[in-house]
Amino acid sequence: MASFDYDLIVVGAGSGGVRAARLTAASGRRVALVEMGRVGGTCVLRGCVPKKLMFYASHFAEEFEDAKGFGWRFPGMPSLDWPAFMAAKNAELDRLEGIYRRVQRENGVEIIEGRGRLAGPHTVEVDGRPITAECILFAVGGRPSLPDIPGIEAAMTSDGALDLPHLPDSMVIVGGGYIAVEFAGVFNALGVEVTIIIRAGSVLRGFDEDLRATLTGEMEKKGIHIRRECLVRSIETGPGGTYSLRLAGGEEIATDKILYATGRVPNTQDLGLVEAGVALNDTGAVLVDAYNETSLAGVYAIGDMTDRANLTPVAIREAVCFFQTRFNDNPMVLDYDNIPTAVFSQPPLGTVGLTEDEARQLGPVDIYISRFKPMKYSLAGRDERVMFKLVVARDSQKLLGAHLVGHEAPELIQVLGLAVKAGLTKAQLDDVVAVHPTSAEELVLMREPVPDPSPEETG
Ligand code: FAD
Repeated sequence: MASFDYDLIVVGAGSGGVRAARLTAASGRRVALVEMGRVGGTCVLRGCVPKKLMFYASHFAEEFEDAKGFGWRFPGMPSLDWPAFMAAKNAELDRLEGIYRRVQRENGVEIIEGRGRLAGPHTVEVDGRPITAECILFAVGGRPSLPDIPGIEAAMTSDGALDLPHLPDSMVIVGGGYIAVEFAGVFNALGVEVTIIIRAGSVLRGFDEDLRATLTGEMEKKGIHIRRECLVRSIETGPGGTYSLRLAGGEEIATDKILYATGRVPNTQDLGLVEAGVALNDTGAVLVDAYNETSLAGVYAIGDMTDRANLTPVAIREAVCFFQTRFNDNPMVLDYDNIPTAVFSQPPLGTVGLTEDEARQLGPVDIYISRFKPMKYSLAGRDERVMFKLVVARDSQKLLGAHLVGHEAPELIQVLGLAVKAGLTKAQLDDVVAVHPTSAEELVLMREPVPDPSPEETG
């Protein structure tokens, strides 16, 4: 039998990679973890964690405003010391990276710094040095994609937005996905004049239409400008570090900063994958079977580089499935249906299961919608409304989807995920006694479905 340096080489120490490496090493296998940057990956260092810290930091602005309605008095408006926040955020990321490194070490994972590349079915080259293993797992994630237009080098991506040395007066955000609306909310709350530019349609394509419309309305109420059907042709750098975006049609928009959030692509270039016989799809994502194995036996891939559901908990679950299948004699596949997810827009939202449009393709549905002003905003005088929407199959009465906009939405959707996943019926939801006074109680108090749309409305 061939002898290898390791039982497993993991390439990429992000959400999926660290979990797979730790579990496999903890089971007594020899594991190498190859990382070309910092340990922790996108989520910890350039995604979920710093983004959520910025969300918290920015949200205090509204909290201070709302406090006045409850009788709080303070001289003027408190101001944010941006460099102090950035330093605190960076110290927290350093702390987390330290924990990730320590946990890997304590479980016996050998961390190898450098860029990994597949050099054969059992060989990875790290900056040119070959190491071998019986099994190889790639978990190298994705990166922002930028259009090839003149002047694009002046734009930043989400990586830059998380590390701004100072706050600009104005910012144009190109893109309408979740990263675009999250940063729009953060910078708008911090006093930056924010304009979102969307090529077609509106924000959050693919989400439930009522969710999209409600969020759009609330974002516009907060002062975010949303420009639809706009295509940026070129970017020019002006005097004093300002920029001008030229749109198709000739219009120019001047701004202090440009953030491109126009999607992400899998990190599969120059990895030796295709040469070794690993098949990619036409967007460059690695094709894998239900057990995360690529077209090259013994080589696996998980996380964003496979472009299935690009979320941290998904990458972690895929890592667990990989370990159970390959090293624990317990074949395991992930169920990609009904994954609950949140968008930390302002207000934030939570969504799980089928949208109304998707559900209608399958059969008749009952739609329940509740729109209300949360109690907190009565004294605060804030004109912000919550929307809760439930999509129920008319025949079986099963809950097929839930779509929420409002401050508690990201927390609530985790629990509603349970209801949708468990296939609970509307009657079972109604059978739960309300928790009063909360916003969440509305979820079990929606009694009447909204009237069916007229044939003209359904198109
Ligand atoms: P990653 O975490 O991206 O890790 C890949 C690692 O591989 C990196 O450390 C990279 O340096 C390394 N690498 C790449 N190439 C090589 C190579 N050749 N050799 C060695 N190392 C290599 N998800 C959520 O669930 N919730 C959120 O709120 C959320 N917010 C996000 C906000 C932003 C701004 C972004 C960009 C993403 C966000 N995500 C969120 C998505 C989440 O970060 C990813 O889904 C997740 O990190 C994917 O994990 P992964 O293991 O596939 O790859």
